[in-house]
Amino acid sequence: MVISGRRAFLAQLGRGTAGLCLSASLGGLAGAAASKADLQVTPLAEGLVLITGAGGNVVARRGGDGVLLVDGGNAEHSKQLLQTLRQTLGAPVTVAFNTHWHWEHTGSNETLRQDGAELIAHENTRLWFTQPVDVDWENRVYPPRPKALPTRTFYKGAQTLAFGGGTVDYGHLPLAHTDGDIYVYFRDANVLVAGGVVTANRYPIPDAATGGWTGGLANATKALLDLVNDETRIVPDVGPVQTKADLAAENEMLTTLHEEIWQMMRKGMGVDDMIAIGATSKYDERWGNSDVFIRNAYRGIYGHVREMRGIV
Ligand SMILES: [Zn+2]
Repeated sequence: MVISGRRAFLAQLGRGTAGLCLSASLGGLAGAAASKADLQVTPLAEGLVLITGAGGNVVARRGGDGVLLVDGGNAEHSKQLLQTLRQTLGAPVTVAFNTHWHWEHTGSNETLRQDGAELIAHENTRLWFTQPVDVDWENRVYPPRPKALPTRTFYKGAQTLAFGGGTVDYGHLPLAHTDGDIYVYFRDANVLVAGGVVTANRYPIPDAATGGWTGGLANATKALLDLVNDETRIVPDVGPVQTKADLAAENEMLTTLHEEIWQMMRKGMGVDDMIAIGATSKYDERWGNSDVFIRNAYRGIYGHVREMRGIV
């Protein structure tokens, strides 16, 4: 089926509101797949949808005879996700972006490659798939994924991809959530997808094991603020669509805590000291528990000690 617009899309599914439980609506998904999870499909614009419930958020756009994907959820939900996309948008995925290497966003890579899709990512994302990744703050070693490798990578700056008669903007956000973060911006629909750099109602993680740090996250959220306007819908890593005001709040929090944690480090405080005194307490009501954030912030800043004008 080809969805020609939001109204038609909603009518097709027989519901009047966005955020639809497809496992109940689509007979083809009954059984084992549907019992795993209920994927929610929310139209963002004509032929452009957000899918939640598959791990990380997924955005898909129909263009010409193909579908462009931004992230692919986790491996557990990959089959259901790709079936849902095919039924919702009526075409196969021909090109997919990885916003970064984390598995809850790249779980469809192997299938997409097998199906002949082009996989676009930052070069560092490709490199993390070529070797074991020891993420010590998770106590987990991720094995290499040789069949998940992106087919097309870039290293620096802003890029443009021609797709379905239009264009899609994307670019690198250096050393932020990881060392391979990219945003994807559908300028015509004014929808921005920002992977793990933008979070909703929880602290972003500067994954110090793979190059993330708070200085980079503060810079990345600033760079995204310069890209968007008050009407932009911003898709975070998981959770509901965010606004420019939400992104500004995240940037303010990151900029402030980056500086404050650095100052505490200069006084000789360690991670446990910061957690014990509630170093982030003024932000915790909005952003939740900050233990993982503080641990990674500390380690990231320590790794950038030279540019932090010297802590020791
Ligand atoms: Zn992530």
